[in-house]
Amino acid sequence: MSSQHSSKHGNMCCGLDQHYEDKVRPRIDLVDSLRALGIEKDLNLPAIAVIGDQSSGKSSVLEALSGVALPRGTGIVTRCPLVLKLKKVRDEDTWLGLLSFNDQHMELESPAEVENAVLDAQMKLAGQEGISHEMITLEIQSNDVPDLTLIDLPGIARVATGNQPKDIEKQIKDLIEKFIQKQETISLVVVPANIDIATTDAIQMATNVDPDGFRTLGVLTKPDLVDKGMEETVVKTVNNLVIPLKKGYMIVKCRGQQDINDKLSLAEALDKERMFFNASAHFRPLLEDGKATIPHLAEKLTNELVLNITNSLPQLQEELKMKLAKTTQDLKQLGDGVPLDKHEKNNFLIMKIHQYNDALEKVKRAEDDQKVSGKKVYTKIKKECDTWKMLLDKKTAKTSPVRLQQMTEVVDNMRAHRGKELPGVVDKTTFESLVWEHIDELEEPALKFLKDVRDIVLSSVNTIVDQHFERFPRLLREAEYPTEDFLEEEFQKAEEKVQSQFRMEKIIYCQDSLYIRQQGVVQQQPIVAQISDVQNIAWNLNAYLTITSDRLANQVPLIVLYHVDQYISRLQNEMYAINRRFDADDLLKEDAKVARKRKELKERSERLKNAGKLLSKFMRSEV
Ligand code: GDP
Ligand code: MG
Repeated sequence: MSSQHSSKHGNMCCGLDQHYEDKVRPRIDLVDSLRALGIEKDLNLPAIAVIGDQSSGKSSVLEALSGVALPRGTGIVTRCPLVLKLKKVRDEDTWLGLLSFNDQHMELESPAEVENAVLDAQMKLAGQEGISHEMITLEIQSNDVPDLTLIDLPGIARVATGNQPKDIEKQIKDLIEKFIQKQETISLVVVPANIDIATTDAIQMATNVDPDGFRTLGVLTKPDLVDKGMEETVVKTVNNLVIPLKKGYMIVKCRGQQDINDKLSLAEALDKERMFFNASAHFRPLLEDGKATIPHLAEKLTNELVLNITNSLPQLQEELKMKLAKTTQDLKQLGDGVPLDKHEKNNFLIMKIHQYNDALEKVKRAEDDQKVSGKKVYTKIKKECDTWKMLLDKKTAKTSPVRLQQMTEVVDNMRAHRGKELPGVVDKTTFESLVWEHIDELEEPALKFLKDVRDIVLSSVNTIVDQHFERFPRLLREAEYPTEDFLEEEFQKAEEKVQSQFRMEKIIYCQDSLYIRQQGVVQQQPIVAQISDVQNIAWNLNAYLTITSDRLANQVPLIVLYHVDQYISRLQNEMYAINRRFDADDLLKEDAKVARKRKELKERSERLKNAGKLLSKFMRSEV
């Protein structure tokens, strides 16, 4: 708090002054320097935010604390968050003002310039009537101010007037909430003493986000306007007996309209305030308890802020570390920018193409670590091949009820139309039709197997393309272009081959010795069939179908794998063609968003590093 205040009111001894220099200033300076780095874009800093309903006396309190006239008037005067940085300096003649918003800075020479400068800045940020979340920072260095940083927020408006947006109340509440929600913010809730505190929006909003009032401090204003007979209620409120807050309440009296008309100076107003509390039998005990007057409020706020900072530092340091790690990782993922030099740029492009082709090559060789939904591409294809084999086994199963039923029907049929053949001898036509029926059932699943592999390959290749070229829209487009067309062509060829394989399977063929071997195998396995004719046909059929199944279990996947190989080789060659066909400049034009993102990340990384340095230096000086 200010020495002007303290010397006048004698409530600060030299010991406290030393405490100031040792404990208070360094902490407030630390947070101010962090804020100056713009670190609030990345994490929250300890702060005190002033909130209250319209005309509750917020500006008056801030004025009294800062000794500077702020814009006042009717309606919504504060329309952007205003960070009021008050810095106490030793030299009694110094007064320095610095107003900043966006990237603009403006020096102010006297307190009289403040009001217009702030209004000007607000106009630029929020236009004529609206409100904005952009901050205006007003730094004041003077001997008359306490060391304190406060954020003034728009007053809560009930109804929109003039050209104000209809939802102005909601907009303002959203803005206020954004600040008071943060655990690092102390809410200074300004409430006029002459109204029922429970009905104010401000106290409701504050207790909503901080029900026990751990970080809410109530400030009652306008005690001179309290009706006779109501004083005891006000005293009870200040003594924390009405709406209890862990941080409690203070009461202050600022300049009323009449005082302003009378051109009462801020310093004179402080005297008047003290006299007022002294003269009131009701309120004097509050003054004696240190719960009344602006100087006491200043002291309390400074202490609260310092406590808040001290408590926040370890967590802040932790958060900084985490954010920096994340930013570094994000930057790495984004990769370096494209070199400007023509030769280097060409090399860069070739390197990119090599990396991409290598990734494809690894898919081909089943060495890819490219985890597409958690598995290697080849592992996934392999699984499809196994599924295909399992389906063949199932369809060929010797003892399936369908098969036995089929057999029985065939035998009945043979008996009915029996010619010269001996019993149990299968005629060629019947055997063929049984085989064909079986083969026909397999064609559709075979084509589905093809399609499933095709989908796996396409999604993997697309992922690889994205991973390598996402930053370069043109290169991405050129690389993406053939992925589907080539795949279509290769799988078309694969499909034709599979279909022709199925046509070939209509020929009943197996090399003699292989067939006899297989027959030997199946005849060792008992078949549940009563009729010997059935048994005989079943043996032959099983032997033959097992051979067909084995053939298809190998042949169909072989066709697919061959064309996947062909497909990938074509993609790789195409990349070199693209490199020859287009200019590196065009291909490597980076997506504007990516370039911007990288710039942002670099800036953030710098910020976080600098903040980290500041913080560690501070922590070291503490021990
Ligand atoms: P804001 O809208 O919350 O910023 O409120 P202001 O600070 O502009 O105050 C609204 C009106 O209340 C102004 O006319 C002030 O002069 C007046 N006012 C503020 N504090 C006091 C006080 O303690 N006593 C009296 N009588 N008037 C006050
Ligand atoms: Mg105001």
